[in-house]
Amino acid sequence: MVDGNTLSTVLSTLYWLQSVALQDGDSDRLIWKWTPDGQFSTSSAYEAFFHGQYAIHEGQVLRKSRALAKCKFFVWLAIHGRCWTTDRRKRHKLQDDDVCALCSQESETITHLLTGCAFSREVWFRLLRLVHWEDLAPTAEELSLADWWLSKRKQVHKSARKAFDSIVILTSWMLWKERNNRTFNNTTANPPTQVLHDTLAEASIWVQAGYIALSEFTQVVHVRSRDHVRNM
Ligand SMILES: [Zn+2]
Repeated sequence: MVDGNTLSTVLSTLYWLQSVALQDGDSDRLIWKWTPDGQFSTSSAYEAFFHGQYAIHEGQVLRKSRALAKCKFFVWLAIHGRCWTTDRRKRHKLQDDDVCALCSQESETITHLLTGCAFSREVWFRLLRLVHWEDLAPTAEELSLADWWLSKRKQVHKSARKAFDSIVILTSWMLWKERNNRTFNNTTANPPTQVLHDTLAEASIWVQAGYIALSEFTQVVHVRSRDHVRNM
């Protein structure tokens, strides 16, 4: 049995074919519709693959940022709301409780976890204060990670944006790690100062691996003792 849509497609095709006159002796030929001259090219085929898609700005910034692939992949998931936070697990009926692992007060959405949570905001504030960027730290306003990141990076001088982008990705990853340790490993909850310390230690390793932009942060820390950092 033919449904209404199929019948409509057939009728409209027949209508358009009425104006087509076939000529004896003319053989059929294939025309590639993605180039003006109808000839196939691999570059046009590649562009055709993305036809109808559009690039999102945060995706472009993330792609160009310097950070470990696993951390960039995590941020990509966070931006697209694909992280298994307790809020998402509850929605999928995988658990009953959706309380935030970091503050134990609010519902654990990815936005809350990375930028809205009081615990995370303290980490961001202490970290950004090291280079006098404390005004850029997330506030209780709870912007999504992408909205906060893109709006604040505009306030950073162009020469320091690489450092800002890398530290945003690294810190987001470290907050997620702390959350996972508490959720899955049942380990003792680290205070914000310890997460800050671990983030800076990881940043030092990244600098040694060639992520030079992050030395903006690590150089500040090199002149301070570990105990001093704990008390910042
Ligand atoms: Zn929280």
